[in-house]
Amino acid sequence: MKHIALLAGTMLAVLSCTMENPLLTESKLPFGAPPFDKIRHEHYLPAFEQAIAEAKAEVDAIVANPDAPTFDNTILALEQSGQTLDRVSGIFYNLLEADTDEQMQQIAEELSPKMTEYEMYVSLNEPLFQRIKTVWEQRDQLGLEKDQYKLLDDSYKGFVRSGANLSPSDKEVYGKLVEELSLLSLQFGKNVLAATNAFTLNVTDPAQLTGLPEFVREAAAETAKEKGQEGWTFDLSYPSYGPFMKYSTNRDLKRQLYLAYNTKAVGGENDNLETVRKIADLRIRIARILGYETYADYATEDRMAKTPAAVNELIAKLLDPSLPAAKKEVAQILSYARANGFEEEVLQPWDFSYWSEQYKDAHYALNDTLLKPYFQLESCIDAVFGLAGRLYGLQFEERSDIPGYHKDVKVYDVKDEDGKHLALFYVDFFPRESKRGGAWMTEFRGQRRIGEVEQRPFISLVTNFTKPTAQNPSLLTHDELTTLLHEFGHSLHGMMAEGRYGSQTGTNVARDFVELPSQIMENWAFEPEFLDGFARHYRTGEPLPAELIEKVEAAKNYLAAYSQVRQLQFGILDMAWHSLTALPEADTRRFEKAVLAPTAVMPDVPECCISTAFSHIFSGGYSAGYYSYKWAEVLEADAFSLFKEKGIFNREVAQSFRDNILSKGSTEDEAVLYRRFRGHDPQPEALLLKLGIIQAKP
Ligand SMILES: [Zn+2]
Repeated sequence: MKHIALLAGTMLAVLSCTMENPLLTESKLPFGAPPFDKIRHEHYLPAFEQAIAEAKAEVDAIVANPDAPTFDNTILALEQSGQTLDRVSGIFYNLLEADTDEQMQQIAEELSPKMTEYEMYVSLNEPLFQRIKTVWEQRDQLGLEKDQYKLLDDSYKGFVRSGANLSPSDKEVYGKLVEELSLLSLQFGKNVLAATNAFTLNVTDPAQLTGLPEFVREAAAETAKEKGQEGWTFDLSYPSYGPFMKYSTNRDLKRQLYLAYNTKAVGGENDNLETVRKIADLRIRIARILGYETYADYATEDRMAKTPAAVNELIAKLLDPSLPAAKKEVAQILSYARANGFEEEVLQPWDFSYWSEQYKDAHYALNDTLLKPYFQLESCIDAVFGLAGRLYGLQFEERSDIPGYHKDVKVYDVKDEDGKHLALFYVDFFPRESKRGGAWMTEFRGQRRIGEVEQRPFISLVTNFTKPTAQNPSLLTHDELTTLLHEFGHSLHGMMAEGRYGSQTGTNVARDFVELPSQIMENWAFEPEFLDGFARHYRTGEPLPAELIEKVEAAKNYLAAYSQVRQLQFGILDMAWHSLTALPEADTRRFEKAVLAPTAVMPDVPECCISTAFSHIFSGGYSAGYYSYKWAEVLEADAFSLFKEKGIFNREVAQSFRDNILSKGSTEDEAVLYRRFRGHDPQPEALLLKLGIIQAKP
C-alpha cells in the first residue's frame, strides 16, 4: 500500500509540474508554435528529466514487446520514440546558440552527461539491436516501401557502424580503441592550441612595421599591452597573422611568422608529429575491426560519395586542369611583383599573400562601401522571399500573434502556392550579446507524419547583420547578401520537406549533400536579372550599376585555381592518411611531403607541416570528409547550370528541384535523387567552368 501511495504522490508531482511547464504541455498557439513567451530557464531541467524518462520508457517498451519484431513494432516505434525530448531539445539547444546567458550554459553543462547517458542507453542496447537485426534480416520479404526500406537499413547500419554486431571480446577492443581515439583527438586539439599560444613576435622598432595599415598596428599595440610588452606584438591567431602577411613589406619578419604558423605542433613541448601517427593507426584498427579495408571506406560508406574511389576521382578531375592554371596564376603574381620592385627569382610562400593582395588591389579594387547602399536589409528580404515566390510559389505572411524568443525575432507563416500552410519561419537578423557570431539555419521542429497527423516544420534563420539606427537603415555587404541566400536555401530545404519519418526529412541528409540547397542559392547573388529587381540606392533610388556587379564577379574568381588547388591539397592529404592499411615507414612530415609533392605550386619549405595542425581531420569531424566542401561545390555548380541553361526563374526546373531534392530529404539515396533532377551524375566540369578554369566548348 505504501508503494501505491508513493506512486500516487509521484504522479501528482509530475502532473502539477506538467501543468506549469510550457515545455511539457500542448501549445495552444496557432500551428502548435512554441510558447516562447512562457518558457523560463527553470522549466528546462525538469522538462528534460521527464522527456528523457519518457524516451527511455518508450525504448524499454519496444524491447519488452512479447511479439516478434516487425517494422512497425520496432523500427517505426524507435523512430517515433522520444518526441517530447525532440521538442524540448529543439528549443533549448537552439536558444543556447541564439539567445543564451550564463544560466543557459550551466543548464547545458548539467544536461551533457544526462544526454550522453541516454544516447548510450539506446546505442548500446543489445536486446534493442537484436530486434532491429531480426527485422533487417527479413528486409526483402517485408514488402516495404522505399523510404521504409531505407529507414530500416539506416537504423541497422547505424548500430553496426558503432560496433553493435561485434563479438563480446571484439566489442571490448573496439570500445577501448574508440576511447583512446577520443582522448588522442582531444590531445591533438590541445597541442595545436598550446602551440598557437606559445608563439609571439614582439617588435619595438617602428621601422619594422612598414606596410601595415593603422588598424593592424593598433591591434598589435593592444596585444603588446595585454602581454605587458613594449611596442607591437603579433601572434598566430588569424586576425593577427593574416593581416601581417597581407600588408607587411618586411620579408624577414614575414618569413619568421610564416615558419611559426606552419610548424605549429611540430616537435617541442606540444608535438603532434607522433599524435598524428597514433590517430592514423587507431583509425586503421577501428576500420579493420568493423570489417573495412581502410578508414576512408568506413567514413564514405554512408555519404553520397560511398567510396574513396569516387572521392579520389572527383579530386583528380578537378586537380588536373586546376594545377597548371594555378601555376599560371602564381607566375602572373610573380611578374607583377617583379615589375613593382620584387627582386627575387621566385616567390616564397611568405611573399605570396602580400603580392597577391597588391595585385588584387590594382586590378579588382572593390570596396564594400560602394555596394552596401544598394542592399538595404528590408529590400533584400523582400527579394529573397520574392525569389522563393517566383521559383516555388511560396508566400510569406508575418504573424505578430505568434511569439518569437526575442523581441528582434519576426515570425512568418509560409504558405504554398495554393495557400496551404508549409512552415513557420523565424528570422533573427541582428547581433546581441546573447547570440553567438556567424549565421545559420536551424529548426525548432522538423517535418514528419505520425499516423494521419502531419507535423509541419518550425524553421529558424539567424544572422549577425548590422542593426539599423535612427539615422541609418541596415545595409548588407554583398557577402552578407550571399550569406542570407545561403541560409535561406537551407531553410527552403527544411520548409518544403515532405516525408514520413523525421530522421529522413528536411536537412537530415548526407554531409556531402547537405550544402547543395544552400550553396545553389548563392548563385542568384551574382545574377544581374535577380539584382536588377531590387538593388536600389537607399537614398537616391538609383539602380545598381552593371559594372559594379561585373567587378564583384571578377573579384570572386580571382586566384580561383590557386585556391582550389589549396583546398584539393587538404582533401588529398586527408584521404592519404585515411586510406592507409598500415602506418607508413616515413615519419609524418616525410609522408605528407611525398603525398603533396605532385600538387606543389610554390617552393617547398622543408620545416613546414600541415598534418600536425590539421584539426579538421585529427580533432574535428572531417576525417576522410574534407573533400565534402568541393563535392558540394560541384553539386551546386552542376545543378545551377541547368537554371542557367533554362532561365534562372524557370518554374519547371525549380519544380523539379523541389520534387527531387528539396522535398525529399534522405528518403532515397542522395545520388539517385541528384541524378533524377539533373539527368546525370554531378560533373566536375561545371565547377571548373564556373570558376573560369576551363572555357565552354563553342
Ligand atoms: Zn551551409
